[in-house]
Amino acid sequence: MKKKSETKSIKHLLENQREELLRQAEITQEDRKPVELDQSQVGRLSRMDAMQVQEMSLEQERRREIAIQRINAALIRVAEGEYGSCLHCGEGISSKRLEFDLATPLCVDCASG
Ligand SMILES: [Zn+2]
Repeated sequence: MKKKSETKSIKHLLENQREELLRQAEITQEDRKPVELDQSQVGRLSRMDAMQVQEMSLEQERRREIAIQRINAALIRVAEGEYGSCLHCGEGISSKRLEFDLATPLCVDCASG
């Protein structure tokens, strides 16, 4: 059982992480725009470079979206008092594991099995 104050700070940390992800999504938005055919639009970058940047940025964006979904799910568990319990077996997740990844929904056994 988590203390109330502890739950509060976990919520805060999760929200901070989500905020940071959303901020990154915003500042990299330019990179994910479709590559312009007009060379002058991409400046000194060649079209190939621009496409590579776009590809990488899209991949990062996909990962960010997954991370945000995990955080949202973790925040729901915090709200429901379920945070810290494995979603699969219901056992408590070790604090070391949660420290490493606040939004992890599974205990180490279920995650590896
Ligand atoms: Zn488990």
